[in-house]
Amino acid sequence: MASIVESGWRYLITHFSDFQLACLGSFFIHESIFFLSGLPFIFLERAGWLSKYKIQTKNNTAAAQEKCITRLLLYHVCVNLPVMIVSYPVFRFMGMRSTLPLPSWKVVSTQILFYFVLEDFVFYWGHRILHTKWLYKHVHSVHHEYATPFGLTSEYAHPAEILFLGFATIVGPAITGPHLITLWLWMVLRVLETVEAHCGYHFPWSLSNFLPLYGGADFHDYHHRLLYTKSGNYSSTFVYMDWIFGTDKGYRKLKALKSDGDEVALKEM
Ligand SMILES: [Zn+2]
Ligand SMILES: [Zn+2]
Repeated sequence: MASIVESGWRYLITHFSDFQLACLGSFFIHESIFFLSGLPFIFLERAGWLSKYKIQTKNNTAAAQEKCITRLLLYHVCVNLPVMIVSYPVFRFMGMRSTLPLPSWKVVSTQILFYFVLEDFVFYWGHRILHTKWLYKHVHSVHHEYATPFGLTSEYAHPAEILFLGFATIVGPAITGPHLITLWLWMVLRVLETVEAHCGYHFPWSLSNFLPLYGGADFHDYHHRLLYTKSGNYSSTFVYMDWIFGTDKGYRKLKALKSDGDEVALKEM
């Protein structure tokens, strides 16, 4: 397995420059993973399949879904791609490399775990700041246009927010200067995680059923369907930041009511 990955990597670095791989390669991988993982949820919603696992009963209109896609393509090309190009020298300066040998799995997994924890911490505070009145009204309300999220809405946000919260995603790699393959793997996992958090479905096989500290769709969907001053659940990946700082109280209350089977009280909320 290791040799297959290594020979594949050798092919890449002999055919493409470091800059091409780090900027265009990253952009290509991001687009592929994002749309491949996000688009199925649009079709699920339209077809009404697996609807018993849908968190909200409300559906998005086709026009709302299409608006999200066209806006995303525009922002990806005009914001994300330039950010990747501009931040390339910073990553290089901090020691990012694409040469062989590839890093060990131990190094890759430790770095990625660190990125998840750091991202979640920075995202939590950044997201709480975005929920203050002025910033919510002028910036973050764009992301909240979709009160019934679907996978692709995960990256639907004001360009200022893309830059602001994008910082949480790149600060970990920027300070540790990882191998490019680690950066790609981090990007893939982070995209899959945020698409899942916005997918609008809670399946029996959803990761949050098995990982106690993982938030997932149920946790973040609550953030979208409540009024912005009351929502809480600000974290991106894990649940402990909201628990420590007491911003998950409404969500916990709802969960407790649900598990008590108190349907009447639930409807009155
Ligand atoms: Zn928010
Ligand atoms: Zn969201």
